[in-house]
Parts: sequence; C-alpha cells; structure tokens
Amino acid sequence: MSVRVRFAPSPTGLLHVGALRTALFVQLFARNQGGKLFLRIEDTDRSRYNPASEQEFIETLNWVGITFDEGPHVGGPHSPYRQSERKEAGIYAPLAQQLVDAGHAYPAFDTADELTEMREIQQINKQPTGYFGGKWRDATPDMVEAAKAEGKPYVLRQRVPRGIKITVEDAIRGRIEFESDTLDDSVLIKTDGMPTYHFASMVDDHLMETTHIMRGEEWVSSSPKHALLFDQFGWPRPTFIHLPVIVGSDGKKLSKRHGATRVLDYMAQGYHPHALKNFVALIGWAPGDDRESMTEAELIAAFDLRGLQPSPGKFDLEKLRWLNGHQIRQMTIDELLENLLRYVNDPYVKSYWNAPDSDGDIPNPEVWPRLERLAGAAAGDIEYFKAALALEQERVQTLADFGEALEFFLVEQPAMDEKAVKKWLTQPHVPALFEHIIANPGSTTEHYDALLRAYGEANGFEKLGPIVHPTRVALTGKTFGPGLFELMALLGPARVEARLRRALAAD
Ligand code: GLU
Repeated sequence: MSVRVRFAPSPTGLLHVGALRTALFVQLFARNQGGKLFLRIEDTDRSRYNPASEQEFIETLNWVGITFDEGPHVGGPHSPYRQSERKEAGIYAPLAQQLVDAGHAYPAFDTADELTEMREIQQINKQPTGYFGGKWRDATPDMVEAAKAEGKPYVLRQRVPRGIKITVEDAIRGRIEFESDTLDDSVLIKTDGMPTYHFASMVDDHLMETTHIMRGEEWVSSSPKHALLFDQFGWPRPTFIHLPVIVGSDGKKLSKRHGATRVLDYMAQGYHPHALKNFVALIGWAPGDDRESMTEAELIAAFDLRGLQPSPGKFDLEKLRWLNGHQIRQMTIDELLENLLRYVNDPYVKSYWNAPDSDGDIPNPEVWPRLERLAGAAAGDIEYFKAALALEQERVQTLADFGEALEFFLVEQPAMDEKAVKKWLTQPHVPALFEHIIANPGSTTEHYDALLRAYGEANGFEKLGPIVHPTRVALTGKTFGPGLFELMALLGPARVEARLRRALAAD
C-alpha cells in the first residue's frame, strides 16, 4: 500500500515551529516513500476558528518549500479537504449513526449545567473528571425516545468499553497500553451536528486512506480513543507516530524566550527557508550519522522513521544561525543579492522590525533603517554594492545582519564605537601612520597589504596590530569586520583619505 500522510492543522492562529516540524516530517516521509501528502483543515471547532489562519499556514509552508499533493487549495480525489465543508456534504452523520446502531455510540442529553455539576462533584470526590457514563450511557430506549420527543438537544458520545486494555502501537514509542477505565466517553457529534476533532479526524483518516498518522506527542493520550474508534468501525488502524515535544536548549518547553514562535518571523529575521527546514528536520530526528548541513534531496533520501527519537527534541537557535550562515556562504553573489533584495522589499519584514512590543517600544529600532538603506544603495553603484556584499558574505549569519555589516561601506561617515576610538585612535603613532597612508593612495588589496606591512617594519613594530587596528577603527568605526586590506581597496583612496582625515581632526 503506498504511503499517504496528512498535515491536519486546526486553523486557530499562527503557524508555529512545532506545527512546521510536523508538516516537514510528513513531507519528508511522503517524499522518501514515493507517497502522497495532503493538507486537511480541521475547522470543526467554530469558536476557535480564525479565517486568516488557513492562508497563513499555506503561505508559510510554501515559503519553507512544503507543498501538498492534495488539499483545499489544490483539490484532490478526496475533496472537500475542510471538515466544515465535509460536514455540510453529509459525510459524518451516517457514519455516526452507524456507530450508534452498532452500540458503540449513544446519545446523551445532559445540559451544560448538569455537566458542570458532574465535574464539580468529581472534583470534590477527587475522581477523574469526564463523562464516564452519566445518566445516558445505559439509558433505556424509552428514556432516549422521550428525551428526543421533548426536543432536548443531545450529543453523541463514544461508548468506551469498561475494564479492558487498549493497546496502541506507536512507530517511535512501541506498544503503549491504556486501561479503558481511565478513558471517558468523548463527544463525537455535538448538539448542532458538528463532529468533534476526535470523530472527524479519524473518520477522515479512514476515508482519505491515511496510512500513517504523524502528529505531536500531545495526542498520545487521545490515541487509545482514536484507535478504538477504528476498531469500533471495523476499519484497519493506520500506523500512529507521535513526534517528540520540542524544548529550548535549557530543556524547558519551547516559548518566546527561546526564539520566535511564529514561523514567518524567522523569514522576517533573515533566515533562509532551506536553513530553517534543515534545522527543524534535526529537531527530534537524526540521519543516523553526524551530518548536519543537508540539502533537500539529502534530507528526503535519509528520512527514516527509525531516526525519530522519543525524547524531547532540542531547539538550539545557535545551530540555526550556524546553518543559516552556511547557507548564505553557499550562494553565488547574484543569488545572495537577489535574496537580500527580495528580503528588504518584503512588506512583512518592514512591519516586523517596526512592530512595537507590549510596552509600545520598538525592540530594535536601528534594524529597519539600516535594511531600508540597503535597498537604496543597491539601486546606486551595484558593482560596489556587490563587492561589499561579497566581503561580508563570509561573516554574517542572517540577511538582517547585512544591514549593520554593510553600513560602513554605504554611509559617508560610519558611527564610531567610542571604546575602540579611545583604545586605538589616541595612540601617539597614529597621526603619522594615517598621514603615510594618505600620502600613498592605491586601489588594490596588494597595495594596502604591502604599504602597511612595510610601514610596520620600517617603524619598528613587531606585530601588525598597532597598524591595522587604528586604521580599521578609523575606516569602519568598529574593531571587527572583513579583511582590512580588502576593505581598503574597495572603499578606495578617496573614502580612505576622508575617513582618516576625520579621525585625525577628531584627535
Ligand atoms: N487538528 C489537530 C491539531 O491542530 C491535529 C491533530 C492530528 O494530527 O490528529 O493539532
């Protein structure tokens, strides 16, 4: 049987890293197996439905390069792919009735007040809360008929057999046993006829021929009810695969402290979609060797359920930065330029860096003006811009970093790091050194290399530090950056002279 897997989000909000990881594993598994992956929108909980959410999911996944063979946006043999539409199409009601007829589900007419009271009594008696039978599990047909005749609203609940063990085989965790007495009788169909997630998701997994249910670990506790539902229908169970939770590098549950939670914010922070994909693939999965940086084809070829780990997957932002830097260094200069320009012209990038936090402040107000400058500069002397980009390509980790990194190439006078100025530009040998450089203009790396080395030797400097550090600070405002001789050649004699003179005048 060929593999069919689904990504089945509830459209309640933004696409988070955890959901991205599920979607990615679903995709890698499908592609590795030559199977199909489809998107199913689980929108039966209308109170939490968010109309913008589906679009956010599709667009963000598209940005990461995860596309579906079937789904609400592309159609497919099992249309419709939105559960609210499937309900309207009358898909669920006859199946629910089938369960009732077989005795595996029953109507329950409890009012909201009655359910609240039941829960309160359970809490007082320190019993597990939930519907373990109530008034209706064993109601006589007459009671049911009478309640229906009165027009009382009712739900359909799953009848969980009492006193048995339910075993779920999980591809990562192995065999998990549950005592059926710990499981309550969940609602399958709500009073308005809308199915719950439990019912719709499993029914659809059967109808849509899902072979593997791959989803987050938080669903392990529901898995016996789901497995039971397949059994009660007499349908073969798919394979269950519960992916490990994601924790921060401190071992705590992933939250804003560890990095952005909305996937789109990684785009805004200047991450390349493939670096993010590569990074997320390694959270809770390993290729079985020590490879970290992998291409799309390598990820697909290596993806194997045996590489999935049951223990929590670590989210390590440093690793993402490293992978992203690696990705940036793989690009040709034209690719990098294209990526950077697309980035700085993306409206979401602008709004992200200008969004106030809960105190009304913009957390990093210097970032956007610098990025905006890049767009303008690239429209000017493009060869100069590309050469500067090439020098910084070796060092930066994200596209956003280019704003700061390229600044000294693009402004007339870079901002000066006060500490560096104090340390290097106040030394007594500096004025003579700068005058010497000004007196010997050049425009190649070799020229400045030879000039500064010769100056050091002629003036008794054993090391090059006292020569290059003050020069770098005067030219760039900083103590770090690309190779000094290269950047001098690129700045060219006019900029070099102007900046050295300004430094001399400031003394
Ligand atoms: N709709 C569920 C969610 O958004 C999916 C659970 C599942 O994959 O079965 O978490």
